[in-house]
Amino acid sequence: MKKVVVIGGGITGLSTMHYLQKLKKEKSLDLELVLVEANEFLGGKIHTKHQDNFIMEVGADSIVARNEAITQLIEELQLEDEKVYNSTGISYIYTNNELHAIPADTVFGIPTSIESLNSSTLVSDAGKKEALKDLELPNETFTKESSVGSFLEYFLGKELVEKQIVPVLSGVYSGDLNKLTIATTLPYLIDYKNKYGSIIKGLEENKAKFQAAANKKFISFENGLSTLIDRLEEVLSESTIIKGVATKKVEKKDGRYIVLLANGETIEADSVVLAAPHHVAQEILQDEQLDTDFDRLKNSSLISIYLGFDIADTQLPAEGTGFIVSENSDVKCNACTWTSRKWTHTSKGNQLLVRMFYKTASPAFESMKDMTEDELVEVALQDIEMSLNLTGKPKVIEVTKWNDQMPNYHLAHGDAIQSLTAKMANSMPNVVLAGCSYYGVGIVACIQNGKETAENIINSIIE
Ligand SMILES: Cc1cc2nc3c(=O)[nH]c(=O)nc-3n(C[C@H](O)[C@H](O)[C@H](O)COP(=O)(O)OP(=O)(O)OC[C@H]3O[C@@H](n4cnc5c(N)ncnc54)[C@H](O)[C@@H]3O)c2cc1C
Repeated sequence: MKKVVVIGGGITGLSTMHYLQKLKKEKSLDLELVLVEANEFLGGKIHTKHQDNFIMEVGADSIVARNEAITQLIEELQLEDEKVYNSTGISYIYTNNELHAIPADTVFGIPTSIESLNSSTLVSDAGKKEALKDLELPNETFTKESSVGSFLEYFLGKELVEKQIVPVLSGVYSGDLNKLTIATTLPYLIDYKNKYGSIIKGLEENKAKFQAAANKKFISFENGLSTLIDRLEEVLSESTIIKGVATKKVEKKDGRYIVLLANGETIEADSVVLAAPHHVAQEILQDEQLDTDFDRLKNSSLISIYLGFDIADTQLPAEGTGFIVSENSDVKCNACTWTSRKWTHTSKGNQLLVRMFYKTASPAFESMKDMTEDELVEVALQDIEMSLNLTGKPKVIEVTKWNDQMPNYHLAHGDAIQSLTAKMANSMPNVVLAGCSYYGVGIVACIQNGKETAENIINSIIE
C-alpha cells in the first residue's frame, strides 16, 4: 500500500486530500491518506467566527464565483443551497478627509470614457485636462517591461493616477506601482494604447468585457466560509486527519520519507505534500541547498479589525459597500468594508458591522504591529469617527494580526519557485510544495493547485 502525507490543513491541503480521495475511489487504489494540521482546527486562513448576531471572517471573506474549480467543488460537496452572494454597490475613496465615489465606468479607477473622467469628484479640472493628453500623445517609448506607474502617469497625468488609480490598484497589487511592470499587472493597457492611440479609448472599445467582469459576483455561505472547510473535513472521514500536532521534519530514508511530528510520532510515506506556509516548509525540509530560493520568497502583513455595533447600518453616511483610503488623509486604515451591507448574511438584524484593514504599506503600520488589541481598537474607533462620523462603543470586536503571512509575489517570485521545484524534484522526488506561498493566493487558485497536486502525485507514485 502507498501512503501520502499532506502537511497543512488550509484550503490547499484539504483540496489536495479531497481530490486524492476521489482518485483513490475512482481508480480503486490501494492508498492511505493522512493530513497533519498544527492547529486544533482546519482551514488556515479561512476561519469564521460567530458572535452575537454577527458572522466574521478572520481571514478570507469571499471566493470568486465564476470559476470552474470552485463551481465543481461546491457541486461535489453539495453546498449549492448554502451559497450567498455579495451585494454590489458604490465604493468610495477616502481622500482629504472626505468620501468620494469611485466614478461609474472605471477599471481599477481608470476612466473608460471622457464622461466618466468628467464625472470624477476626486480630480480637479486641471487634473482632468491633463488626463486628456492620453488622446493626443503617441506611445514611442513604453514596452511591457516598463513600469506601470510611469506609463499611467505619462499618459493620464499625475493627479488622476495619484488620486483615483493608485488607491484602487495598490489594493490589488501590493507594492509600489513604479516597481511593477506593465507585463505583470495590466498588460492589455499598452496593447490598447498602441492599437487605439489612447488608454481611455481602448477601455471604451472593450467596455463589454470589463462590465462582465464587474458583475462577476463573489460567494460565501449562509454560515460563513468555514462551511466549505467543515464539509471537506466531513467528506474526508475515510482518511486520517491529525489535528493539533505540528510537523517538525521530513527525512528521506530508503526511497521513502519519514515525517516527524511534534509529539514524537513518525509516519512513513511515499509522497509528502507541504501545504504549509513557505517558511514552515523551509524549516521542515532543513536543506541548505534550498535556503537561498526559500529566502527569496517574501511575505507582508495585515491587521484585520471587525467592529460590530448596536446600531442599524442605515446610519452609515452613504449608500455603498466601503472605502479605500488614499495617501492624502488622516485615518490610519488602508480600507474599510461595510460588511453588514456588502454581506447581508453577516448581520442578522442589519446592525452595523465594519471591517478595517491595516497593511504593511501603510505609514502607520510600523507603529501598530506591536500594539495590544485594546490599543488597536482605539485606533480603529478613531478612524471610524473621522471617516464615518460614527461614535459609540462596539458590542463585538475581532482583531486578527496576520504578521508575515500574506505572500507577496514580487518580480523574482516565479524564478525562485522554478529553481526550488527543480532542485526538489532531483533531491527528494515526490515531496511537493503546494499552496498560497507559491502558486496563487486566491482561494480558487489554491483549490486548483490542490487538484493538480493530487493528480500529479497519483501519476507519479501509482501509474
Ligand atoms: C486577511 C486575509 C484576507 C483574505 N481574503 C481573501 C479573499 O477574500 N478571497 C480569496 O480568494 N483569498 C483571500 N485571502 C487569501 C486566502 O485566504 C489564502 O491564500 C488561502 O486561504 C491560503 O490557503 P493555503 O491552504 O494555501 O494556506 P493556509 O491557509 O495558510 O494553510 C496552511 C496550514 O498549514 C498549517 N501549518 C502551519 N505549520 C504547520 C506545521 N508545522 N505542521 C502542520 N501544519 C502546519 C497552518 O496552521 C494552516 O492551517 C485572504 C487572506 C488573508 C490572510
